[in-house]
Amino acid sequence: MKLQYSEQIDLARRWVEDATCIVVLTGAGISAESGVPTFRGEDGLWKSFRPEELANPEAFQRDPKLVWEWYDWRRGLVAATVPNAGHEALVEIEAKTDNFVLITQNVDGLHDRAGSKNTLKLHGDLWRVRCLACGQVSENREVPLRTLPPKCDCGGMLRPDIVWFGEALPFEIMDAAWSAASEADLLLVIGTSALVQPAASLPLRAKEHGAQVIEVNVEKTVITPYADLSLIGKAADLLPQLVS
Ligand code: NAD
Ligand code: ZN
Repeated sequence: MKLQYSEQIDLARRWVEDATCIVVLTGAGISAESGVPTFRGEDGLWKSFRPEELANPEAFQRDPKLVWEWYDWRRGLVAATVPNAGHEALVEIEAKTDNFVLITQNVDGLHDRAGSKNTLKLHGDLWRVRCLACGQVSENREVPLRTLPPKCDCGGMLRPDIVWFGEALPFEIMDAAWSAASEADLLLVIGTSALVQPAASLPLRAKEHGAQVIEVNVEKTVITPYADLSLIGKAADLLPQLVS
């Protein structure tokens, strides 16, 4: 039986209410309505570079200043945005749920600014830097950065604490994400095309371990065929409707 759109939303709201262990996986789509450009499309480009050309270790080795200029531009863009109703709804769901884990592929820090607590960042954080000499990771919110590339107190060069193309995801974070997905009774997958790992596999893992899967996206994705509910629409419109 095919449900009406409003019935699908009612059902999703009930699942969110009833679940005791909710895992959420977000991608760039949840930040779209805050005005953070996704990587697809013209507004994600800087000086006509594609992100893949800059977000990789070889590019940084070749020209750290250029890569840092790009990150400085992105930090400036994100600093001028605010979390939207989608980010905020997830904070409300977290407060009402016994066990809640938010797994994000985003690096923009908008979940933190909204107030999300139990968060696993798969791809790092625009607001963290890592020293290539001493390895120390620290927060840095200076916009724009005074010197490019920025330096650590030890004198070493800092890099963005971001997982670049061709780099491995942090093992402990991944491990925690897999465990969370295995234990979830409800998994929400929001605003991700799920074309890259592990985003592609985490919802499937949850499903195999008995979770219900709800997808929120403006279009169908590779998750849609096995999602128990696929809500087509904007995250900032739909997510507040899932909080009673
Ligand atoms: P992606 O592959 O996760 O695709 C974005 C998805 O969001 C698409 O499926 C699209 O249909 C959907 N979407 C767009 N607007 C939406 C909305 N308003 N509501 C719900 N869904 C919406 O993301 P990408 O841009 O291709 O980036 C790939 C990777 O690059 C990310 O995983 C991330 O590491 C990095 N990135 C991060 C940010 C950020 O931190 N905000 C932005 C761009 C890219
Ligand atoms: Zn250092």
